Amino acid sequence: MRRRRRHVARADGPRVIVVGAGFAGLAAVAELARAGMPVMLVDRNGYSTFQPLLYQVATAGLNPGDVVYSARAFTRRQGVRFRLGELTGIDTAARRITLADGGQFEYDYLIVATGVSAAYYGVPGAAENSLGLYTRRDAVRLRDHIMARLERLDIAGPGKDVNFTIVGGGATGVELAGALAELRETALDAAFPEVDLASVHITLVELAPVLLAPFDPPLQEYARRELVRRGVEVRLSAEIREVAPDRVVLADGEDLASDVTVWAAGVSAPAAAGRWTLPQGRGGRILTRPDLRVHGQDRVLAAGDIALVDGLPLPQLAQPAIQSGRHAARTVERLVKGRPAVPLVYHDKGIMATVGRRSAVVQLPHGVRIRGTIAWLAWLGLHLVTLLGGRNRLSALLNLSWRYVSWGHGGGVIVGDDPPVGPVWGGPGDLLPARRGPGA
Ligand SMILES: Cc1cc2nc3c(=O)[nH]c(=O)nc-3n(C[C@H](O)[C@H](O)[C@H](O)COP(=O)(O)OP(=O)(O)OC[C@H]3O[C@@H](n4cnc5c(N)ncnc54)[C@H](O)[C@@H]3O)c2cc1C
Repeated sequence: MRRRRRHVARADGPRVIVVGAGFAGLAAVAELARAGMPVMLVDRNGYSTFQPLLYQVATAGLNPGDVVYSARAFTRRQGVRFRLGELTGIDTAARRITLADGGQFEYDYLIVATGVSAAYYGVPGAAENSLGLYTRRDAVRLRDHIMARLERLDIAGPGKDVNFTIVGGGATGVELAGALAELRETALDAAFPEVDLASVHITLVELAPVLLAPFDPPLQEYARRELVRRGVEVRLSAEIREVAPDRVVLADGEDLASDVTVWAAGVSAPAAAGRWTLPQGRGGRILTRPDLRVHGQDRVLAAGDIALVDGLPLPQLAQPAIQSGRHAARTVERLVKGRPAVPLVYHDKGIMATVGRRSAVVQLPHGVRIRGTIAWLAWLGLHLVTLLGGRNRLSALLNLSWRYVSWGHGGGVIVGDDPPVGPVWGGPGDLLPARRGPGA
């Protein structure tokens, strides 16, 4: 196996702390290590999560371990230090951070790259009665809820329905709805022969009149048509007024029965960011200047999803996170050398989203647009290549191949445990009576 050479940090160099082992944090650490700076990476988890494939874990196609990579393996390779811990406080005057376990560390430069979590926009019941998809834990929890609901459907026998509702028609919502439809079509028939496929309903609810807002209209329409073809009910221009344990209430008063509601609509900074005493903008994200230094700070920078950069409205995607993480590190390097910081220039490399097997949309610069099987193969290849860790790539390749090659023969679902009874899980016998009328 190819071994990477460790970078050697200068003992007298400025101390740089990077908080967050996501796309932005890892890109920053790699750049700083290359420049020989003493770096400490901090994350509340001992691993980095590859969020773009979390929905495959949630729909029983990948193992949770396939989409996470050890933070320590990464820092060891880079020759820098890792510290497990949750950032709770930043004392910018003393240049010191505090972690939830009481640990305190001084820095010369701090890069905050903690990502974002769900935004509920004050919708009553949304936080309590829906599931998210941001972390490995979220994905495992959702998978367990989905699989347990299908088991309950089998136990309940004919005459019962199960309803999955996904709120938010961005890439996460579209990918999850498409994967659930695949699970219904492939795995159910083989693994749950007694369950009537028509009793499993998947609804995608989106506030905007289109899906996949950042894409061109023909690609948006293609994604909508593909979902409908796969049996997903797509509700556009639909505002959610409330989420209850067993239903979603729309603004026009309509009730949608929902046993499992997934909230994939919008993002905001984690609540903890409010305690960091850094200036916050829309969605609680940290306001930075174009060079990624936080407003009013010369030694604190922000990168990735958490950063709201003056005059540069970047999409909250992997590429902007990687490029901004690298740029934040380069800004630190420039400041250390006494050179002026320069603004981040974003290089658009395109965007992609998948609906399911042999169906995806790719939007590249210079008007290149691809959809269908070629786009799906491109999506698959890119995700496998960018996944961290050779073992992860191999196991993800194997598991995804199993899912797509064993098409119609059970799809090889990865099983879990029944989730504990809680607000989003009412327990046995709580499935809704079968729908009446059209679509039942
Ligand atoms: C389900 C899903 C699917 C997606 N699909 C795509 C896709 O197909 N293509 C694409 O380009 N983008 C996709 N994205 C978006 C992409 O994953 C994000 O834009 C990207 O991960 C942002 O990187 P980041 O480094 O800013 O934050 P993250 O990757 O979220 O990393 C943040 C890190 O900070 C840590 N952290 C958070 N708070 C603290 C704290 N207080 N103390 C210590 N550590 C902390 C977290 O544990 C995490 O490791 C998807 C996102 C989701 C949720």
